[in-house]
Amino acid sequence: MKLVLVSCCAPCSAGAIKQLADGAIPDVDDFIVLFFNPNIFPETEYQKRMAEQIRYCTTLGVKHVELEYDHVAWRDAVRGMEAAPERGPRCSRCFEFRFRRAADWARANGYDAVASVLGVSRHKDQTQVDRAAATVCGDVRYMPIKWDEGLRQQIGRASDFYRQNYCGCEFSIRKL
Ligand code: SF4
Repeated sequence: MKLVLVSCCAPCSAGAIKQLADGAIPDVDDFIVLFFNPNIFPETEYQKRMAEQIRYCTTLGVKHVELEYDHVAWRDAVRGMEAAPERGPRCSRCFEFRFRRAADWARANGYDAVASVLGVSRHKDQTQVDRAAATVCGDVRYMPIKWDEGLRQQIGRASDFYRQNYCGCEFSIRKL
């Protein structure tokens, strides 16, 4: 199976990428890391997270792709939900927006399935992430893989990753 791993940043994805690169996930023959995060604001922050993601993939020799940064389109997608709390309806819409684009990319590029690390942070609700993916991925299979949290933390401790202190959008900055 050819898998697209939807990633938000290097610290969240480090363990998952290592597991996939090591062939530790059954049935996955090939994979690519997809970075589609138009939710991130401001753009300078987006560039930092993307650069760190690329740096980690390059270190491991892992394929990666970065899609468009259209924050205006993302704002349109969450319009009316700006004041919702984190883990609320704005986040569901945000996840759906990103998974829909990822599934479209997977379908157009010959990949069979999508998985993600969007739920690995302790601030996230994995069930909410899984529900959003299942809602929009259509004929592209969604794999709700439970990643090795210990490995992720181990790699994080040994690395000098750039680490953000908010989820990504401008509305999550206000929550600090
Ligand atoms: S808090 Fe995070 S998941 Fe929620 S809408 Fe903002 S960027 Fe998306």
